[in-house]
Amino acid sequence: MRSNPGTCAVWPAVAPVLPVHGGAGRIVAGELDAARVAAASRGLHASLMAGMAVLRDGGSALDAVVAAVAILEDDEQFNAGRGAVLTVGGGVEHDAAVADGATRRAGAVTCVNGVRNPVRAARAVMDRTPHVLLSGDGALELARREGLELAPTGWFVTARRQKQLATLQRGCRVESEMTGGTVGAVAVDVEGHLAAATSTGGSAGQLAGRIGDTPLLGAGTWADDRSCAVSATGDGEAFILSVFAHEVDALVRLAGLDLGAACDRALQEVSARRGTGGCIGVRPDGTVAMPFTSPGMFRGWIDAAGNPRVGMFAGDLCQ
Ligand code: ASP
Repeated sequence: MRSNPGTCAVWPAVAPVLPVHGGAGRIVAGELDAARVAAASRGLHASLMAGMAVLRDGGSALDAVVAAVAILEDDEQFNAGRGAVLTVGGGVEHDAAVADGATRRAGAVTCVNGVRNPVRAARAVMDRTPHVLLSGDGALELARREGLELAPTGWFVTARRQKQLATLQRGCRVESEMTGGTVGAVAVDVEGHLAAATSTGGSAGQLAGRIGDTPLLGAGTWADDRSCAVSATGDGEAFILSVFAHEVDALVRLAGLDLGAACDRALQEVSARRGTGGCIGVRPDGTVAMPFTSPGMFRGWIDAAGNPRVGMFAGDLCQ
C-alpha cells in the first residue's frame, strides 16, 4: 500500500521545528462533523503553540515535545490522558513514552491510571530512575513521589468514550469521528537536538493489560540525533512487529534513505502485517515527514513562514 505523502518537505534552514499528531485512523473528509474538525484543530493548534513557545525561548526539544503532548492529553478530543479510549471492561490504561535524541535515553510508562499527564511520568522514568519502562502501580507511585499531578479515574472517562465502547460491544463499526486520537510530537531545537514523545489510551475495547507500540521504544517512539525523531500512530501490534520507529531510524542512519522514503518503507512493513497508521518524523536539518496509510491523520506543523497549520485528510498538504 502506498502511503499518503501527508507532508514531506525541507524547511529553508529554519530551526526550531515541531510537528505534532493527534492520531491516525478512519478520518474521512465528509464523515467528520464540523464541530469535531474545529475542536481537533483547536487542540492541535494549542499543542503547536505550547511546544513552539518552549523552542523559541531556547528550550530543549525534549521539554518542547513534553509540553506539546501534555496539552493534547488534557484535551478530550484525543485518545490520551483525559478522553482516552477504554478497555473492554471500561478501564483506563494509559501508555506514554519520551525519547531524547541528544543522549539516546528514553523513558516510558504503560497501563497507568491516575496520572493526569502520562507523558510527564514517562519523562520522570527517564530522568529520575535507572529504568526505561515502568508499568501500572509502579508508574503511579513514581508520579506521586515526583509530585506530578494525579487525577481520579472519573476524570479521564468521558461520555464519548463510554458510547464508543458500547458501540463496539454491540459489534457495530465506530463512527469516523471516534477513531484516531493517539498523540505525539517530535522536535528539533535551536541546538539541533531531537526528541520525540507519544501518548495514548491504546485501542478502544482492548483487553486489560494490552500494551501497544506507543511505550515500546523503537516501536512507536524513538529519537537519535544521528538520524531522526519519530512518533507513530496506528495499529499498534503491526507497528510493534515492524519495530517501526527504529526501522525508520535504521533506514536513515544505516541505509542512507531520506526521511520520507524511510517512513514509507517502514509503513510498508506495517502494511505487510495488515496494519495501517502513520507517523511524524524530523531530522536535525529540519526535514519533516508526516506520511500515513490510514484514510487520515490529525497533524499540525508550523510552516516556513512561521504559521501554524493543521491537516486531517489525505489531501491536506503543507505547501
Ligand atoms: N498505536 C496505538 C496503540 O496501538 C493506537 C493508535 O495510535 O491509535 O496503542
